[in-house]
Amino acid sequence: MLDDKKFKEGVFGLFQQRPYRENHYGVSELLYCPLKAFYCRKSGERSKPNGKMLHGILIHEKLEDMMKTSMPNESIEYEKECTHEIVTGSGDKIHIDGRCDGISGTHIYELKLTNSNPERYQTPPAYVLQANAYCHMLNRTNYALLTVFHPSLQVKVTEGVVDHLLFPSLVVRCTDLHEALKTDNSELLEGPRYYWECKFCGFQGSCKHSVVKKRSKKGN
Ligand code: SF4
Repeated sequence: MLDDKKFKEGVFGLFQQRPYRENHYGVSELLYCPLKAFYCRKSGERSKPNGKMLHGILIHEKLEDMMKTSMPNESIEYEKECTHEIVTGSGDKIHIDGRCDGISGTHIYELKLTNSNPERYQTPPAYVLQANAYCHMLNRTNYALLTVFHPSLQVKVTEGVVDHLLFPSLVVRCTDLHEALKTDNSELLEGPRYYWECKFCGFQGSCKHSVVKKRSKKGN
């Protein structure tokens, strides 16, 4: 007889995330609101598991099958780790770490799952920044974002060429986050780039920089 409690544990077990490492920052935590990254690190919290994340985990499990079908003759490395060391102005050695879904030849590949309408979809700048960072760190010249639209299962491939001038913006974000954490001063950080970040943020209720709260106070 199935133990439903244990089954639930099995589902949540899929979300196991590594604890934060001091002086090591993930590419994905540098892509969005720096204040959110600050609060997450201070509290040790990670994003709360949800259905979209579960779909993302499951589809990534099958990435190899999908890639083999579309590129049968190429050798592809999956879950390729990469890192970039930075020495900050105060002499700290910090790292930007990443894990790329796949690399082969001159290309890196990143798989994305979205609820967006395929007709109106525009590749988010954060995804380009992420793919560009992997190209830079893994010494590749091209990226391809493989976007699967949920629930229609349409697929879009967005290709691009590495822009090495874009990577330093991630280095600045990483350095600023590190200094803010070190001095416990969130005022060193900018707020979100997009309104929706606050809308879906777990810190919305407590964060004094939340755009959502400010808007609702004004009655907007
Ligand atoms: S509520 Fe908005 S400003 Fe505050 S941490 Fe979240 S996304 Fe950033």
